Amino acid sequence: MKIDGRCHCGYITYEAEIDPGQVAICLCTDCQTLTGSAFRTAVPALREGFVLCTGQPKIYVKTAESGARRAQAFCPECGTPIYSAALGEAQTFMIRVGTASQRAELAPRAQIWCRSALDWVMDLKLISQTARQQTP
Ligand SMILES: [Zn+2]
Ligand SMILES: [Zn+2]
Repeated sequence: MKIDGRCHCGYITYEAEIDPGQVAICLCTDCQTLTGSAFRTAVPALREGFVLCTGQPKIYVKTAESGARRAQAFCPECGTPIYSAALGEAQTFMIRVGTASQRAELAPRAQIWCRSALDWVMDLKLISQTARQQTP
């Protein structure tokens, strides 16, 4: 399916062709740090199906424990993560699903790096829920 997305400030916008069956959650510790959260949700797009419409992302090169190096692209203005990709002529872009306009339709089908997951994240239903921001 066709998706479009943007960073929080709107400097970066993109369009992509993705398979909604390939949306996955990554619970690895790098994703925890890079998102400032407990996990990341991403979906792959092939090079020919991914178009940066506006803006130029800043690239941070992450070196994994395995030694593998990957480009982490984010908005230089607002810091929103946009995608990760191999260095050089990447063939696949792992798009950060939270930036897609269609994210409500992109429910994850798989969770990876579960051994690194924070205990509580596997049971979010147990945590108190409020429809909007909690009043102090
Ligand atoms: Zn931005
Ligand atoms: Zn990860």
